[in-house]
Amino acid sequence: MRFFSTRNAGLDVTGAQAISKGISDDGGLFVPASFPEAGLGFISSLLPLPYEKRAARTLGLFLTDYSAEELEGYARAAYSSFPENAAPVVKVGSFGYFLELWRGPTCAFKDMALQMLPHLLTGANAKLGGGLGTMILTATSGDTGKAALEGFKDVPGTKIMVFYPADGVSAMQKLQMGTQEGGNVCVYGVEGNFDDCQTAVKRIFTDPGVKAGLAARGWAFSSANSINFGRLAPQIAYYFSAYCDLVNSGVIALGDRININVPTGNFGNILAAYYAFRCGLPVNRFICSSNSNDVLTEFLKTGHYSLHRPFYTTVSPSMDILVSSNLERLIFDLCGSDKEVKRLYGMLASAGEFDVSDEVLGKITQLFWADQLSEDETKKTIADIFAENAYLADTHTAVAAGVYKKYAAATGDATPCVTASTANPYKFPAAVLEAITGEKDCGEWEAIDRLESLTGTPAPAPIKALREKEVRFTGTLKDSGMADAVLAFASDRAG
Ligand SMILES: *Cc1c(COP(=O)(O)O)cnc(C)c1O
Repeated sequence: MRFFSTRNAGLDVTGAQAISKGISDDGGLFVPASFPEAGLGFISSLLPLPYEKRAARTLGLFLTDYSAEELEGYARAAYSSFPENAAPVVKVGSFGYFLELWRGPTCAFKDMALQMLPHLLTGANAKLGGGLGTMILTATSGDTGKAALEGFKDVPGTKIMVFYPADGVSAMQKLQMGTQEGGNVCVYGVEGNFDDCQTAVKRIFTDPGVKAGLAARGWAFSSANSINFGRLAPQIAYYFSAYCDLVNSGVIALGDRININVPTGNFGNILAAYYAFRCGLPVNRFICSSNSNDVLTEFLKTGHYSLHRPFYTTVSPSMDILVSSNLERLIFDLCGSDKEVKRLYGMLASAGEFDVSDEVLGKITQLFWADQLSEDETKKTIADIFAENAYLADTHTAVAAGVYKKYAAATGDATPCVTASTANPYKFPAAVLEAITGEKDCGEWEAIDRLESLTGTPAPAPIKALREKEVRFTGTLKDSGMADAVLAFASDRAG
């Protein structure tokens, strides 16, 4: 399988090259030149397999320059830190089927891909040679940063640097990143919101001066954000796996369509589901769920993408995003033209908005349904899920669960719906507790104690361990200072 860029379809790179570079020099994202065929025959071959084998097979569809043995080895190693079933499907009463993606070391779905990415990347570097170490640069709205740090800590030949919005992540997320261990890691808060962080990181990535300075110090950039195809590919796997689980448990027959509902920020997780569909997964509808930052809701309904709107800080911080990177891949797939993508993203950069054609909008509305949930509705959904099922949902999953109810009421569609459950509720304990009991301003640790006694379910060990850990990183920067910080870290002997 070859890859090219959403802004240059003349490019021709291998999977290893796409993963190693992270983002194309033209500013576009790497996309597969075509979609591999993975219909019912492929799915039925996955049915008897454990999760890690399903994941390796799915990766093999796209990453044909890696051997099946390589991918199986990576998957075994990546998912060894998870329980036996890395991504189970759980029925949650009238809210449908939750695909629990947060059983990994940092308790958010980002682990599903970021435990895998270091293997794919070091494998790519071994294939490509070149001699430079890999400097991972990551902008995070909270969960990617910690998951990337855990994935890359002390991986030989790599260094990882994480930038998060200083006032835009939860207390627990900040603590998770600040206490990160490892000799090759560096973490900074940045003044501004996630979009400022992400825009600055993308600029640094493609800045020839910074790249030359980095190379002189022995390093080349790559990305752990979902702009990297190596992040997307492992996410495609769990949608195939969820479908298999529903077949195996008799909820659907092989060939039946399902709906897929995703709490969305950077559009990576839902794009992975769409890519699974493009390969042959039977999907009826994608439900794109947003919090008050509803830029995607408007776009998917009207074809108008506009940054001229307020930015809200919400109880689901990992979805507080206006510049939704992976949407570029969907638009490319639907319009099929690198020139059109370039034109649209040129307009986004200069005017802060664009409109897709009626033809593209028609394709979108056929397949996607979108809505947003307010803060109050999100809290009420957490309370409703708990009252009905004695099940704790985190704030992000609750956004999707609440939007699912709106979808079901608006359409009457009874197709079985898989909702991506993206974080362990104990990652956002104060907000979850307030939603259920109304207790306000409870500290995070007190909230954890209260939730444990309320539910009888213990908080995950990696979260509880944070209480005792030493905080190593407290620095903050302006976005104008990020490039210098990168070069300073590259000069550092660490790693
Ligand atoms: C990152 C994240 C999301 C959003 O996922 P995208 O791929 O950016 O759309 C949703 N929920 C949680 C808990 C996350 O960490």
